[in-house]
This record gives sequence, C-alpha cells and structure tokens, in this order.
Amino acid sequence: MAAEIVPPTRRRCERCGRTDVWEETLENWVIAEKNGERQVGNKHCIHEWDINGQYNPIADDPSPEE
Ligand SMILES: [Zn+2]
Repeated sequence: MAAEIVPPTRRRCERCGRTDVWEETLENWVIAEKNGERQVGNKHCIHEWDINGQYNPIADDPSPEE
C-alpha cells in the first residue's frame, strides 16, 4: 500500500457544516459551493474542521465579506 501523503484539499466543519476547498492559486481556503450555494455554515461557529493538525491552515483571517 502506498503511503502517500496528500494534503487535504477539502475540509468540513463538524459543527455547522461549512465546507472549504483549498485553492492552490490563492494558497488559501475558499468556501465550497454545492448546487450553486456556498457552504458557509454558521459564521459565528468556532469551526471544528474534520482535518486535524496535519495541514496548518494559513491564519484564519476574518472574512472580509458582510
Ligand atoms: Zn463551523
């Protein structure tokens, strides 16, 4: 079995369902879309991503939106 380490390209908050995808060109997470709907989840949520530690996200900067 190949022990290939692939950095996650997708993460999902276990609390509110927010989903991000890794945008390589931006080197940052962007909110995923599903059926044209952005999976923003709850913006007040202290997101608990379903990936742990292995990949250090760039500082969770506050969303400039809204
Ligand atoms: Zn969340």
